[in-house]
Amino acid sequence: MVELKDYASPVRPTWCPGCGDFGVLNALKRALVEVELAPHEVVIYTGIGCGSKLPDYMRVNGFTSIHGRPIPIAQGAHLANHGLKAIVVAGDGDTYGEAGNHLIHALRRNADITIMVQNNRVYGLTKGQYSPTSPKGFPTKTSPPPEGAIDRPVNPITLALAAGATFIGRSWSGDMKHLIDMMVRAIRHKGAALLDIFQPCVTFNRNYSYDYYRPRVYKAEEEGYDPGHREAAWEKAHEWGDRIPIGVIYQVEGQPTYEDQVPTLKAGPLVEQEFRAWTEEEYKALEAEFI
Ligand code: SF4
Ligand code: MG
Repeated sequence: MVELKDYASPVRPTWCPGCGDFGVLNALKRALVEVELAPHEVVIYTGIGCGSKLPDYMRVNGFTSIHGRPIPIAQGAHLANHGLKAIVVAGDGDTYGEAGNHLIHALRRNADITIMVQNNRVYGLTKGQYSPTSPKGFPTKTSPPPEGAIDRPVNPITLALAAGATFIGRSWSGDMKHLIDMMVRAIRHKGAALLDIFQPCVTFNRNYSYDYYRPRVYKAEEEGYDPGHREAAWEKAHEWGDRIPIGVIYQVEGQPTYEDQVPTLKAGPLVEQEFRAWTEEEYKALEAEFI
């Protein structure tokens, strides 16, 4: 039986008091206990950012990559051993900026990885530059007033829908019960799952605080929303303002994953398959073909 203490780490987070990353960390540990995955069965891949320090604060396998690269590294490692649960945890800059291209291709391939985005709508670690999800007009050091950010923000839900994602969810770090439930559903999904998490940065983005989200977010499925329809999801993805939907926005089940379709993996995880070194004759035949 997996218990919360199995994931306990003696390392204390260095996040600012009140940072939404605390909620993400606590929810993720509880979600993994709920799906009964032990630490040795999970790998968490992160990039660069405040939230990417998360695996340091859990007793779990972790791989901290460079900025924007946790998705391809998770896909590669998962091809080598798809017996391990692959979870990417990265920020909005990391995922929708530097990794924009990687995200699109992981989703269209239906790679069997779970991508959780700590979306605080700012670059926090590098001290407050505007990010791909910052709203137009957002004033920062790199987008000074009076104009603020002149870019239109990425809409993660429409982006994922257009890329062919089979699971798209949204939650926020101010509602632990909902966040744990959404993480559980994303982890259990077979195929690529994108979970966008509103995660307040209390230091560099006070516009999108707990007080901003609390009165606005609503649980779409509790109002009868059915996440099984692409057209309805597209419409739902555009709701913003006084009412912001959270929950599963789109899910289609039973689609083959990338790993299901790679012929070599049909015999089981690569790491469990027999390794055979080439013979000298085989090397010579290769040389003869190309040299
Ligand atoms: Fe969290 Fe923002 Fe502080 Fe980083 S700078 S730890 S994102 S509150
Ligand atoms: Mg960020």
